[in-house]
Amino acid sequence: MGAVARAVLWTAVAAHLLLVEYLFVRYGQGKNSLLTAGKFCGLHLASVMMLQLVLVARLPWLDRRIGMDRLTVWHRWIGFGLVWTLTLHFTFIVAGYADLAALSPWDTFLSLAGVTASLLGMVAAAIIVVVASISVRYVRRRLPYEAWHALHLLIYVALGIGLVHQAMEGTTFDSTGATAYWWAVWALVLAALLTGRVVLPLWRNLYHRFRVAAVVPESDDVVSVHVTGRHLDRLPARAGQFFIWRFPGHHGWWRANPFSLSAAPNGRSLRLTAKAVGRGSAGLRAVPVGSRVFAEGPYGAFTTIHQSRPASLLIAGGVGVTPIRALLEEPGGPTTVLYRVHTAADAVLLPELRALAKARGAQLHVLTGRTGAGDPPNVPFAPANLAAAIPDIVRRDVFVCGPPAMTDAVVHSLRALGVPRRQVHAEKFSLA
Ligand SMILES: Cc1cc2nc3c(=O)[nH]c(=O)nc-3n(C[C@H](O)[C@H](O)[C@H](O)COP(=O)(O)OP(=O)(O)OC[C@H]3O[C@@H](n4cnc5c(N)ncnc54)[C@H](O)[C@@H]3O)c2cc1C
Repeated sequence: MGAVARAVLWTAVAAHLLLVEYLFVRYGQGKNSLLTAGKFCGLHLASVMMLQLVLVARLPWLDRRIGMDRLTVWHRWIGFGLVWTLTLHFTFIVAGYADLAALSPWDTFLSLAGVTASLLGMVAAAIIVVVASISVRYVRRRLPYEAWHALHLLIYVALGIGLVHQAMEGTTFDSTGATAYWWAVWALVLAALLTGRVVLPLWRNLYHRFRVAAVVPESDDVVSVHVTGRHLDRLPARAGQFFIWRFPGHHGWWRANPFSLSAAPNGRSLRLTAKAVGRGSAGLRAVPVGSRVFAEGPYGAFTTIHQSRPASLLIAGGVGVTPIRALLEEPGGPTTVLYRVHTAADAVLLPELRALAKARGAQLHVLTGRTGAGDPPNVPFAPANLAAAIPDIVRRDVFVCGPPAMTDAVVHSLRALGVPRRQVHAEKFSLA
């Protein structure tokens, strides 16, 4: 399913680029070769921008098949490509006009800044450069998530200004048909963005009217929030997926945190289970019963729709047990669960896991200790140890969710053991 979605997405991108390039060659020449190159880069810049928007539009069809984490990673890397295309577009346009008017590049830049359409393009470009620079890993790690997110939203300002810039320049294609195609694609992309980001979440929340039904402490720093609502049987959520949750009466509107469902949706309620790491998650313990919840989702491809073998291995690390606990409720073939924690007391939801495992005849092993400690060192996810614990591992689908380092180590070992890529499903609790 993921392969089909990837094929559809990249074929659509390639077809669009080929068509745009064909239209450009036929109808889009500039006044000199530098301006032609500048316009060519401008078209690609706008096309990359369109792709970027589709990747973060949270379209259910793409999200279920590819997963928001992977789409976000693509968005991040393509974002840097956007900056390079922007640099080329800007350089060729300035050089082209400098050549036409026999001016220096700096004087050309100043004279272009005096033309509204070009000035708007420059402002949009400056915003894109700022947004890209705060997304460089070094800067991103040093900014609080909320600050980074608020600054990242400036990209929508750049988008609006960039569209006005394109409309005012309006000379790219010397053909009504080509121009109509161009704006039709833009309309489609904006409609997809609006649908996935605004219309669908608003409609779902109005329709389901989510409310907190109960808040249940699971340990000193982990709490479960049970959410009810109307017609939850019509919510297309699956075990393994997550929502982005807001508790508007309790936290500020802007505070939105992704949490997985820690129980399979049963048509009557949803449950999230969160470990306190910062203000958003720690505050959940005090959310009043009955308060409104705004939930965006369901999102994520960490579900059994991607399962290709009857037998499965579910690996959880710490609070990464939440989607694993939900997946254990899904009917399926022979199943083994490995639950990695420092001490047995850290194993939240353990009684539920035991009951579920017993009910479906699954094996459950709690693996305690610190990785690397002791002699021999405690490394349960080293390839040899995994193979010894699960001898038929290459014939199973493996679902792993835990801290990024643990998840990476497991995925690495699975590769070393020859488990086919399509049988490996990982959720890292981080989106980029
Ligand atoms: C797909 C997914 C599913 C998750 N499921 C669970 C779960 O079931 N249980 C659980 O305990 N934790 C889960 N997490 C982690 C959880 O989202 C963070 O621990 C939580 O958002 C921390 O927020 P905070 O405000 O308490 O802390 P802060 O200190 O504000 O945030 C700590 C870090 O959490 C991340 N974060 C905060 N808000 C967001 C956001 N809106 N989007 C992306 N990242 C954000 C950022 O990396 C941030 O730096 C999940 C994360 C993801 C991406």
